[in-house]
Amino acid sequence: MDATTPQPGQLTFTAPRRGKPPRHLADLTLADRADAVRDAGLPAFRAKQLSRHYFERLVVDPAEMTDLPAAGRAELVAALLPSLMTVIAERQADGGDTIKTAWRLFDGAIVESVLMHYANRSTICISSQAGCGMNCPFCATGQAGLTRNMSTAEIVEQVVRGARLVAARHGGHKRSMNVVFMGMGEALANYKASIDAIRRLTDPSPEGLGLSARGITMSTVGLVPAMDKLTAEGIPVTLALSLHAPDDELRDELVPINTRWKVGEALDAAYRYYEATGRRVSIEYALIRDINDQAWRADLLGKLLNQRGRGWIHVNPIPLNPTPGSRWTASDPKVEKAFVAALEQRGIPTTIRDTRGQDIDGACGQLAANTI
Ligand code: SAH
Repeated sequence: MDATTPQPGQLTFTAPRRGKPPRHLADLTLADRADAVRDAGLPAFRAKQLSRHYFERLVVDPAEMTDLPAAGRAELVAALLPSLMTVIAERQADGGDTIKTAWRLFDGAIVESVLMHYANRSTICISSQAGCGMNCPFCATGQAGLTRNMSTAEIVEQVVRGARLVAARHGGHKRSMNVVFMGMGEALANYKASIDAIRRLTDPSPEGLGLSARGITMSTVGLVPAMDKLTAEGIPVTLALSLHAPDDELRDELVPINTRWKVGEALDAAYRYYEATGRRVSIEYALIRDINDQAWRADLLGKLLNQRGRGWIHVNPIPLNPTPGSRWTASDPKVEKAFVAALEQRGIPTTIRDTRGQDIDGACGQLAANTI
């Protein structure tokens, strides 16, 4: 069973495909890795060594693990570091600063990630599902439907692969890596795998990769119960809410989950996240010409945000990226400026999001795994 093209407005919460990728050490806590190693008849401390190779040295080749006894080394690596994904296509833009990779997973599902290098850091945009069930009509991923949830290790592996590229590039270090859950999928609809992935990414080695939680952004259409669950986890990641319209009538169409949880409910949940974590929430707003870019909508957005408080929010408008078959285009630059000015006038920090990789279909909303 595979993803089927959804009807307009149709939401899909249950993935049609349920096959599980091979177990990988990034699926497990360090304690569970130790158990797995013991089950294989080896001393538990081998789990730590193996974890250091993966998370610290970013190495998976047994030949490079000379601290492990040669006898049984390959078997140990095969058992806990199975290959999870292979590159099927890699495309570059921005003079090599933006790299989109399409990955084939064990069952043939295809996902994409995008690595963007900036002066002092790199940001990797990762996928959490093959496809997406949230069906936003302006997003190429949403239009293709949901194939399956990714495993924790499949989510983490994208970052580890990216970290290797960062390390190879003028000695860059993984500590200067940011991670955004803005590739394919609605990560909060694949809650457990995504939260476990965040833990693996932020826990220090040998438990995990040791990235800063503040450098990780969880983006959501506004699954209110899952947002509240995230609030309760107490991990200070940045939360981004894909709002795209301040009124329910338009948002029902642009972000179909709005038929379940309304603008006001999503904003309240975002505010609760801010209150609990002290982390300023981002509002994502794709500016679509003559659809959601009117002055009155900027005013209404500003009003709704200020009603809840000051200093808790940051608005990130982004010019709509074109997607195949869509009747919509980006707002006129003058209209975009006026939209930003209206929010700033109300004291709301607003920055137009830099959109990278448009010419390689690697920008927000363009990941469709069909650009090979
Ligand atoms: N499911 C998550 C992550 C998806 S992509 C979410 O919806 O938040 C990350 C961001 O890109 C979201 O804000 C999404 O609404 C936005 N996006 C999707 N399609 C886009 C497009 N064509 N142009 C600009 N942004 C888009």
